[in-house]
Amino acid sequence: MMWVEEIETLPRSGLESIQLKRLQALVHRMYDKVLPYRAKMDAAGIRPGDIQSLKDLSRLPFTVKDDLRDNYPFGLFATPMDDVIRVHASSGTTGKSTVVGYTQADIDLWASIMARCLTMAGVTRGDMVHNAYGYGLFTGGLGAHYGIEALGATVIPVSGGNSRRQITIMRDFGSTVLLSTPSYALNLADAMSDAGVSPEELKLRVGVHGAEPWSQNMREEVERKLGIKALDIYGLSEIIGPGVSMECLHSEHGMHILEDNFLPEIIDPDTLEVLPYGETGELVFTTLTKEAFPLIRYRTKDISRLFLEPCGCGRTLIRMEKVTGRTDDMLIIRGVNVFPSQVEHVLVGIEGVEPHYQIEVSRDGNLDVMAVLVEVSEHIFSDEIRVLENLTKKIQAEIKDMLGVTCRVKLVEPRTIQRSEGKAQRVIDRRKL
Ligand SMILES: [Zn+2]
Repeated sequence: MMWVEEIETLPRSGLESIQLKRLQALVHRMYDKVLPYRAKMDAAGIRPGDIQSLKDLSRLPFTVKDDLRDNYPFGLFATPMDDVIRVHASSGTTGKSTVVGYTQADIDLWASIMARCLTMAGVTRGDMVHNAYGYGLFTGGLGAHYGIEALGATVIPVSGGNSRRQITIMRDFGSTVLLSTPSYALNLADAMSDAGVSPEELKLRVGVHGAEPWSQNMREEVERKLGIKALDIYGLSEIIGPGVSMECLHSEHGMHILEDNFLPEIIDPDTLEVLPYGETGELVFTTLTKEAFPLIRYRTKDISRLFLEPCGCGRTLIRMEKVTGRTDDMLIIRGVNVFPSQVEHVLVGIEGVEPHYQIEVSRDGNLDVMAVLVEVSEHIFSDEIRVLENLTKKIQAEIKDMLGVTCRVKLVEPRTIQRSEGKAQRVIDRRKL
């Protein structure tokens, strides 16, 4: 089932002509209304009339997080504040928060976008949707909330916290859909087992999880512990909030981008060149339909890949691979860009290997040396040396194949690599010392 089938199944040419018209209107509007962006265009020597095809997008200047900070709080808004009916903000770990604004049309657009996404997950009017995303300045809670209402399903605006009570509500109200971050879904699973409630006592069928990167292994854990189908949703407040892209029930390895609204590109974060479909790099978005806070070529710092292979659901929208890393984590080893997430991808595909690893980079003379510590399962570690040697060689070969970098792999016993509550420390770069 689709929310707007005529858009979601458009042939490329039809979709691209909509994108181009919207892009041209956007560039004119940004040039007229958003003075900091006009200054960038002037500096780059490009005029709104120069955008004649979608290829010309690459001639436009990027927008980066610092532009938002420099124009804090409302300096990049394209409409008068009288037309802005809501703001959201994300708390930056460094410095000022990022503030975004919405007109009534933006809020309506966002609701319909979220309704489209939830429809991809098979959610209908008959569903009872447990919305455990945080309500407040964070876009997750309210963004999802209005989408659920637009769809006509019943929303339970439970927000985060008090897991025990959430379990009671899920059981008593008969929640069928769970919206939460993946880590909170696992929290709820633990709270369920603590409370002696089994998944069979709940009516939960599907989970829509986003707002943080999560691995395939974590997906399997959520699915197993809650007895649901767990799907990935992607978004960021700068672009609109949740709903930029979403996995459908047929797509295990990619999220459909709602590209009639959000025009994606993948760039090389070093050279800033646009990369062809299929290649991994930094995701960049241009918002085609937003009024209050439109952005052109916003660098997300998220690492992904775009692909056009047809999907079993019939949607023609381009898909993006699950985001597993950030350019902030990028390493340059002997001139090659290496993302820890690529190492993780290799490891997830090899039997007997745990997705716990650590990359150590050092310098031997003038040469970078990369070592990867990998945890292996108990039974493999107790195996004979030859088995371990073969596994080591296999991992080295696959990493070389995937990343184009030679590394030294060291297998270690389960639970020897330090875990932290928050972000696991995947990289130790001794070159900086
Ligand atoms: Zn699909």
